[in-house]
Amino acid sequence: EQTVVLITGCSSGIGLSLAVRLASDPAKIYKVYATMRNLAKKERLLDCVKGLHKDTLDILQMDITDQRSILDARDRVREKRVNILVCNAGVGLMGPLEAQSLATMRQILEVNLLGTISTIQTFLPGMKAQGHGRILVTGSIGGLQGLPFNEVYCASKFAVEGACESLAILLQHFNIHVSLIECGPVNTDFLDNLQRAEPGDSSLQQVDAHTRSLYDTYLQHCGMVFQNAAQDTEDIVKVFLDAIQSSNPAFRYYTNNALIPLSSPKISALDGSQYIRNMSKIIFSTNGKGEQK
Ligand code: NAD
Repeated sequence: EQTVVLITGCSSGIGLSLAVRLASDPAKIYKVYATMRNLAKKERLLDCVKGLHKDTLDILQMDITDQRSILDARDRVREKRVNILVCNAGVGLMGPLEAQSLATMRQILEVNLLGTISTIQTFLPGMKAQGHGRILVTGSIGGLQGLPFNEVYCASKFAVEGACESLAILLQHFNIHVSLIECGPVNTDFLDNLQRAEPGDSSLQQVDAHTRSLYDTYLQHCGMVFQNAAQDTEDIVKVFLDAIQSSNPAFRYYTNNALIPLSSPKISALDGSQYIRNMSKIIFSTNGKGEQK
């Protein structure tokens, strides 16, 4: 019997790579439902799987902010079961907080937080009834530590951590494992897809000059971090496979060990001030390098 895997956000990036890898498994042990908000974007996935994968891949429309669309996708799963649910879809938002509109902030929370939670909610009864299941969530370093100019994104990803940890405690009683795959920077469309305040934006012009100059520094830092430390989606997929293949998966997996030391002051100095100082130094230090070494 095939392991049925349903993945959200498969038109690009991590979701696409994971879908391709699982659907191309030589032993054909996975049946992948690669879902995406906009089916017009399915060509890229189809190009990557090359050839026919009728028995291992199906592509379904699913917008995680639309309850109807989640339910429709669920009902189209022919096996009538999902063994592994991968909540991967997400969007970024970057810029000074004062430059963000309420509508934009809502949209980020709608996708990253409520979209993830309502996807899990929809598939939970089936998993409970079948007596087993895996829920894998693409987490972010931004869900473990605050990052300047990413307040709303971090808030959404921190919130996902809270939801998953809470669920993990309960779901042990149902033989359902929840795991977060915590990613640092990954080479995907994420930076292109994220909503970002750009230098010419009128919303940014209203922000004070000091904040704008710190934002410039941050953007340089961010560019450098992506250049030096970004992983390829294949690296992330390997970690997903570790979690999928483990008989007793951990709650958290870190894709990039280099990023763990950044979080450790949060644990060793519980008042939080050391992490804030360290991060400020790393990002805004005047040597202009901001290298995380
Ligand atoms: P990506 O932009 O290539 O992929 C995100 C996917 O989510 C896209 O295919 C997009 O269409 C989809 N999506 C957005 N809104 C959706 C909706 N309402 N319904 C369904 N799908 C929707 O970027 P990625 O890096 O592959 O992102 C995947 C996940 O990884 C996200 O949750 C992101 O927060 C997380 N992540 C990415 C990075 C990074 O540096 N790339 C770092 C940490 C975490």
